[in-house]
Amino acid sequence: MPEQYCYPFKRKSLGDYYEMTWRCAKCGYCRNVFPSDTEHERFGRQCPPGERFKYEAYFASGRSETARRVIEGKQDLSSERFRHILYTCTTCGACEEWCQATQWRDPLKLEYAMRRHFVREGGELLPQHQKTVRSIKKNRNRLNRNNRDRLGWLQYAPGAQQQQADTVYFVGCRSSFNRTEIARNAYELLTRKLGIPVAFLADEHCCGRPLLDIGEEDSARELMLHNLQQIQATGARRVVFTCPECFSIFSNLAAFGLTAEFEPLHISQLLAEHLHRGQYTLQAQTGTVTFHDPCYLGRRQGVFDQPRSILASIPGIKLVEMPRNRKNAWCCGAGGGVQEAFPDYSQWIARERLAEVLHVHADLIVTACPGCKENLWGAAAANQVRILDIAELANMLICEE
Ligand code: SF4
Ligand code: SF4
Repeated sequence: MPEQYCYPFKRKSLGDYYEMTWRCAKCGYCRNVFPSDTEHERFGRQCPPGERFKYEAYFASGRSETARRVIEGKQDLSSERFRHILYTCTTCGACEEWCQATQWRDPLKLEYAMRRHFVREGGELLPQHQKTVRSIKKNRNRLNRNNRDRLGWLQYAPGAQQQQADTVYFVGCRSSFNRTEIARNAYELLTRKLGIPVAFLADEHCCGRPLLDIGEEDSARELMLHNLQQIQATGARRVVFTCPECFSIFSNLAAFGLTAEFEPLHISQLLAEHLHRGQYTLQAQTGTVTFHDPCYLGRRQGVFDQPRSILASIPGIKLVEMPRNRKNAWCCGAGGGVQEAFPDYSQWIARERLAEVLHVHADLIVTACPGCKENLWGAAAANQVRILDIAELANMLICEE
């Protein structure tokens, strides 16, 4: 692959992508799952905004043309339609996956560059994104909560205590405030059931992902630097995450000129490691289970096998794959700032995923991301399908001595 197209961003400003904008072959590989990977036309589509709004401009190919217009100064940045196109991309990365494989281009990095450019040029953010930015700048979390309450869930975790440890659990905004059941289960699983003591940061801030998604990269980097210093102060040699967005940030700090002197691990990787060493087994269950790949865990970080190996070790369950799985997975609809800015569209994406769950007759969806669980929850409940995070399921089923 030509070096100039490689991660991390060798290209700093949107203008640096100019040549790339007209190299889009309009081949459409970024729109559909490769025919050899699926037999399902109904579930062969890849790009949520393209499928929902049905104009070329919403697909990666159209975004290239828009970027070119922006660079050439021909695009009105204050136009409503432009902002809609810009912020309806869920940053799922499906286009990047296929375009890099076939055409050597980086359509998602181009999208990010366009968002950064929009912010730097003083573009007016969508009202919900303004709220997110205000919340993070004031409260250091995306949910407008008092950051001192981040560990509020800990009082409900059996035998919880704060301590020094070699392993830090970076909880993330969603698990700290909204999906606290994931934090509680992960903590209990790690400490009480697997005997791994974990420490927390004295002052955890948002990882920066929501700001990156909006285009506020400089502010996002400040958060990364703060968290990095906090982690270094603990002296921990590894950091465990239940949120793939946080995990992906800490796995790619070098792209922002920062260095991590610890190993970032998603909890599914840690659990799979312990499982393969024979350190625990899971109790038998009945039912049909499918795994939903979070975009930031699968496509971004290449973690596909570990959660599946945990599920495959549960005696009695039938593990089924949806037509779009692994690198072809359909986004849950929460990412890229879409859940906040366009809740109806975000739920349409979630319902599309549920149609696939029903297609394979699963009665339980397991995922590995608080954002995915949150966004798929409503559509799952409406169809009497249960949804659990992998940390919850493992904690529930682990055989205690
Ligand atoms: S795969 Fe790449 S080159 Fe082909 S249409 Fe999509 S963005 Fe353009
Ligand atoms: S990142 Fe996902 S949503 Fe955004 S243009 Fe690419 S395929 Fe579409």
